Amino acid sequence: MCDRALLKGKKRIVVKVGSSSLVHEETGMIDLFKLEQLVRILCDLRNQGKEVVLVSSGAIGVGRKVLGLNERPSTLPLKQACASVGQGALIALYQRLFNEYHQNSSQILMTKHTIVKEKSRFNAKNTFDQLLSMGVIPIVNENDTISTDEIEFGDNDTLSAVVAALVNADLLILMSDIDGLYTDDPNKNKDAKFIECVPKIEKSFYDMAKGAGSDFGTGGMITKIDAARIATDAGCDMIIANGHDFRVIHHIIEGETIGTLFLAHKNEDFNLIQYIEEGKRH
Ligand code: GLU
Repeated sequence: MCDRALLKGKKRIVVKVGSSSLVHEETGMIDLFKLEQLVRILCDLRNQGKEVVLVSSGAIGVGRKVLGLNERPSTLPLKQACASVGQGALIALYQRLFNEYHQNSSQILMTKHTIVKEKSRFNAKNTFDQLLSMGVIPIVNENDTISTDEIEFGDNDTLSAVVAALVNADLLILMSDIDGLYTDDPNKNKDAKFIECVPKIEKSFYDMAKGAGSDFGTGGMITKIDAARIATDAGCDMIIANGHDFRVIHHIIEGETIGTLFLAHKNEDFNLIQYIEEGKRH
């Protein structure tokens, strides 16, 4: 059932990378070596004839560094100012690197409104389809400069699953700071078992994630399982893997058993808006 070899045939792939995979832990500065590696791997996916969407975090973190702030921004205007500066810097860097491989890339910034409002959802989908048909790699982030509670996704795990559903992707890869899903917190419980394949998302997964410690659990793993619900119900396989080394993206597509694979099971009644409006439903 969990045939990894099938991943080789995936055509439309969304890759999500989190801030922690993009910056040096010690300094918070961009890890240029990793960014370069990520861009090269995504360009190679294009060379294999695949369509690629990148969902990248990092706007706020990068902006903070550019503005010379030592602390995390504490107010909303400051956070949004950081995002405004950082998003520009991040995209400039991505485009420079993609250009080295003659790969066109673009920026798409979204909020929850983009999806909930029918007209903008329709437009967004058309833009994605147009870009992908021209071989461009869209680089997506939440529009943090204007997002507030009511209109924000809040995390790029959810955003990337929504994008995967919107563009009818057949694979979503979440590059995270964990290897995948365990039955318990592997740092606390040596009997915790790694779960390689999830044919169906059971309610018990939420309990496992809730019971787990800070690194593995709260927020982190639960939002990822939520993302998996959206992606798999929309008909898209999803993998959570460790973004410590981006080369795993290449190995995943080669069919190697890396990370946790959540299998798609298209729900005929799938309604993206319902998932978004209902929010976390467990
Ligand atoms: N949109 C945020 C940023 O780019 C990150 C959100 C997330 O990583 O989940 O800074």
